[in-house]
Amino acid sequence: MLEPPASAVLVEAFANTVDVEEASDEIATPGGLSQWLTGRGLLDAHGDAPVDVPVGIPADVHASYLALRAGIREELGGHVGDTPDPDLLAAADQVLAQHPVRVTARGFLTPMTELPAERRPLAALAIAWSELVTTGDAARLKRCAEHTCGWAFWDVSKNRSRRWCSMKVCGNRNKSRSYASRQRQGT
Ligand SMILES: [Zn+2]
Repeated sequence: MLEPPASAVLVEAFANTVDVEEASDEIATPGGLSQWLTGRGLLDAHGDAPVDVPVGIPADVHASYLALRAGIREELGGHVGDTPDPDLLAAADQVLAQHPVRVTARGFLTPMTELPAERRPLAALAIAWSELVTTGDAARLKRCAEHTCGWAFWDVSKNRSRRWCSMKVCGNRNKSRSYASRQRQGT
């Protein structure tokens, strides 16, 4: 089964809210984050507020999303042989620890505590990540080894050996650069 599970689709999309190549970030501001979460059906408008008014996200909660994303991206980089930054991993772990999940009697993961609307998607992301780690599917989720790209992708190869989001673009870019540097070094 090489199709990504829903949990992988969610984590991949979250990791790709930042686009290294375009130097853009969809969730750089609380407003942008709110819109992104609402667009994915993870965040509902408050009470009787009109649906087109984004849910406000406090600065500290916004920071938690950014920390979680940074840590997940480091993990995904680790899957292509990059060395994850321990500080970024620790910060993301802290966010996960603040949103503990438990297994229900029927085997589903669910948040351990009641959470305000703006924190519920953090729990959803924590659950998706736990599922991926538990099933081992997390290893298929990777960050492109070409650092000017950094795109998160789902590795469909049988032996999970892919390192680039696209062999055509990033793989070749990487190869031609190593070739050029070998030329320069005269090897
Ligand atoms: Zn790439």
